[in-house]
Amino acid sequence: MRRLLVAGNWKMNASSSMAEALLSDILTADIQSCDVAVFPPFPYLAAAGVRLSNAAVQLGAQNCATADSGAYTGEVSVAMLQDVGCQLVLVGHSERRALFHETDAVVLAKTEKILAQDMTAVVCVGETLEQRQSGNAELIVKQQLSALLHQLKEAQWSQVVIAYEPVWAIGTGETATPEQAQQMHAFIRSLLAGVSQKVADETRVLYGGSVKAANAAELFAQPDIDGGLVGGASLTAEEFLGICRSI
Ligand code: PGA
Repeated sequence: MRRLLVAGNWKMNASSSMAEALLSDILTADIQSCDVAVFPPFPYLAAAGVRLSNAAVQLGAQNCATADSGAYTGEVSVAMLQDVGCQLVLVGHSERRALFHETDAVVLAKTEKILAQDMTAVVCVGETLEQRQSGNAELIVKQQLSALLHQLKEAQWSQVVIAYEPVWAIGTGETATPEQAQQMHAFIRSLLAGVSQKVADETRVLYGGSVKAANAAELFAQPDIDGGLVGGASLTAEEFLGICRSI
């Protein structure tokens, strides 16, 4: 019912030539078994937008401003991202929450801007190791989703993808077990059911945190895991396409 999505979050990596080569390999692979999206850094988005126009591979940005335009030095608006061909924007990545003070209120404001522009928000949530060990993982994820669950209208959820990324699994090589991930994904889906059963059934919930070709199949086989948000392993075509092909 839900088509799986494999999304590559390049973070602050790559160069224009590397971006071009990676996109070219992804396009040549012509993956049909799932949706594929890439999130290059801002400077490479415009060229990627040209490269991916009319292609099935979707383009996303890693961040956006909460304002529309004006005196916000260094910021990039959602309309600008759409103008260069982006269809998706990441929001609330744990690195942005931890390093750039992105609060749940900011996550909501950005998500609302993205949806108002008819784009898709990929909203990231996830607990730290300390929060998991103290038994608060579900509480934290619920808190992170709370504003969205209360503020968004049912119809808007068709433009939202959730990415569950336990902070302790990001870039550490330590992946959540398929059972741990499935348990949290099922919990997230139960929260979505509070909006409506349709939203619970149709909203994609991605897993992120040290996803690689060797563990993707097992993770994606879980009933409530609808694909992955891939960091490190999205930087080489072989590994990224290996993940896509595991579906
Ligand atoms: P990772 O990052 O795959 O390198 O763990 C995932 C992410 O932060 O989106």
